[in-house]
Amino acid sequence: MSQFHGARRRLVEQLQQCGVRDLTVLRAFDLTPRHLFVPTGMRHRAYEDSALPIGNGQTISQPSTHARYLELLRLTGREKVLEIGTGSGYQTVLLSHLAAQVFSIERVGALLDRAREAIRESGARNVSLLVGDGTLGWRDYSPFDAILVTAGAPSVPAPLVEQLADGGRILIPIGGREEQTLTLVTRRGSELEHRDIGPARFVPLIGTFGWPK
Ligand code: SAM
Repeated sequence: MSQFHGARRRLVEQLQQCGVRDLTVLRAFDLTPRHLFVPTGMRHRAYEDSALPIGNGQTISQPSTHARYLELLRLTGREKVLEIGTGSGYQTVLLSHLAAQVFSIERVGALLDRAREAIRESGARNVSLLVGDGTLGWRDYSPFDAILVTAGAPSVPAPLVEQLADGGRILIPIGGREEQTLTLVTRRGSELEHRDIGPARFVPLIGTFGWPK
């Protein structure tokens, strides 16, 4: 909708002022209509740099947080990416502009239904969605070049490591149920390299290789 075009441009400028430098990431924000991913009554706030509730006790993260994470993944446009925690589907569509194929798993069926509709409306065509426990990964489409986990885990789920391509990376908040350290894990053959990025606060990753419900 053109009424949101100016607001979206201002968000992109704000991200640039916050230090986001990667032009492909900024372009993804320019192309993604965030107002489709927030509840209708909140559309006037869709282009603020803030997290917003999306129902079922979950939130759509702050755009600057998404931008930082997407920069860390250093995608070239050729990758197959797995996202754990579709939520609203906003980040899924940002990823669709930065990678060749995006696979995304959400455990809450009602959220995934809404996300599916918004993703369709956004025009993204290289996205596949699954309702289920993302800690198990999505073996049929593995290996993945990058895996982005958008909920806090006690440790890196073993199936995600198994489904990661050599040279691939997992960006995941690791730590407690409420506070974590954002961690970038890179696979080098049978070795895993861990790099701490900084503090993070995410909802818990609930599942077989995550937290109990
Ligand atoms: N990036 C999303 C967006 O743009 O709207 C927000 C994601 S939200 C912070 C985290 C999501 O992870 C929630 O929707 C939650 O239901 C989901 N989640 C938690 N545990 C999960 C699991 N084991 N598998 C899949 N999704 C999970």
